[in-house]
Amino acid sequence: MDRVRIDALAAEAVPPQRLFIGGRWQDGAAAMPVTSPIDGRDLTTIADATEADVDRAVQTARAAFAGGRWSRAAPAERKRVMHRIADAIEARALELAVLGVRDNGTEIAMALKAEPGSAAGTFRYYAEAIDKVAGEIAPTAPGTLGLVHREPVGVVGVIVPWNFPLMIGAWKIAPALAAGNSVVLKPSEVASLTLLKLAEICAECGLPEGVLNVVTGQGAVAGQALGLHGGVDVLVFTGSGGVGRRLLEYLARSNLKRVYLELGGKSPNVVFADAPDLAQAAKVSAAGIFRNSGQVCVAGSRLLVERSVHEELTALMAEAAQGMRVGNPLDPETQAGAIASEAQLARVQGFVETAAQEGARLVTGGSRILTETGGSYFAPTVFDGVAPDHRLAREEVFGPVLAVTPFDTEEEAVALANGTDYGLAAAVWTGNLSRAHRMIGAIEAGVVHVNTYGGADSTVPLGGHKQSGNGHDKSLHALDKFVNLKTAWIQL
Ligand code: NAD
Repeated sequence: MDRVRIDALAAEAVPPQRLFIGGRWQDGAAAMPVTSPIDGRDLTTIADATEADVDRAVQTARAAFAGGRWSRAAPAERKRVMHRIADAIEARALELAVLGVRDNGTEIAMALKAEPGSAAGTFRYYAEAIDKVAGEIAPTAPGTLGLVHREPVGVVGVIVPWNFPLMIGAWKIAPALAAGNSVVLKPSEVASLTLLKLAEICAECGLPEGVLNVVTGQGAVAGQALGLHGGVDVLVFTGSGGVGRRLLEYLARSNLKRVYLELGGKSPNVVFADAPDLAQAAKVSAAGIFRNSGQVCVAGSRLLVERSVHEELTALMAEAAQGMRVGNPLDPETQAGAIASEAQLARVQGFVETAAQEGARLVTGGSRILTETGGSYFAPTVFDGVAPDHRLAREEVFGPVLAVTPFDTEEEAVALANGTDYGLAAAVWTGNLSRAHRMIGAIEAGVVHVNTYGGADSTVPLGGHKQSGNGHDKSLHALDKFVNLKTAWIQL
């Protein structure tokens, strides 16, 4: 990675940001500061959108949809524009990654791959789907013809969190656009900058004005206004369960819009004594909980270990935690960057205090570090002896805190793995193929990794079971969220 270029990009001033509505920058009624978690300094301001701003964006999106420049464009034309967007994201990858890192503190090595890298891949994947996913001719009786059309829904509202905003934003925006919809996006107030840049890129690449609009601001104001808006047909959300519940209230109070939720997790990482390589399991598992300082929805935050290797693996995890290079996320050597906000750091600290009070044993970490930087950093932390009823075993921390729990039998491992309200991700480490398949079947989660953790690509869905959500990002399945099926029943 080009350190000189990174430093040059990081030294650039970020001008005050405005709303992107109807293909141009517009002033919001007010502004709010953006603080960089790297050093605690103000980076810029973003617009703090009001209900009226959100209404303007939705009306604009609706007019663009009705105008048909995108919704009724030939599939080949939509495909061309989306490929151009992917090319532009790739060409500006480092610029986007550095901007995102300054905003939310993800380490640059991971940000470059997961943010512009993944976003470009996602635009490409759905660009290719545009002229390959077709409607159906149903197998009806002779004399009748049943056609199933796939139509865009209209206006899609998108609300995303602070972690990986470009990647998660693209997971929703790209299939929504591929299906022919218009979009109003509300990024997290903690990390809006790359998504504003994406809107500009899309416009430069020929996405007609009004098809992608970005309104920044507070969840309780701009987010709520989008959730309650009668002009939004489908709302797709990634974030916490608490806000997900609010969105379900909004749809009931407004126009019964469809809402798809991608929520949190407390993902079990189950290591059996017959794992092919315990050292490799420890190395990958450490990355699975400590990268991006644990601010990863699928983070393997519960390590369930067969008792005979419990001591050895816990020691390896502690060693890996202590060896993590935590620090300035703009340094390509950094393995774990900053916690995105001071509020989140305080939350992480709260979990650590409760874990100690509840009787878990602190093995390593447990405190804020690098205070001299002015930034928000937390030591990779391991707690052993975490009981299933401890808060650390049940609630999502969204920080670099691992809960270790030993087990004796496969049945106990399954019971522990499924013993939370969540069901987002899991992993099983075993050299026994039959056991691997038994565990895949038994674990309640949207993705079960075997002898690895993380890394799934665009071809497979990501979505939660239980209280981790009801939708799917990625893969061709995600397109279904953004279409209405319409049957034509014809008497011949
Ligand atoms: P959050 O729920 O606090 O915020 C998410 C978004 O919702 C933000 O844009 C916020 O402004 C908005 N919001 C807040 N209050 C709102 C309201 N009343 N009405 C409408 N919108 C509102 O989540 P976060 O703290 O930004 O992100 C962390 C959470 O996201 C974690 O729970 C994490 O697990 C989850 N997450 C899930 C996935 C997944 O794929 N399942 C991926 C990444 C993150």
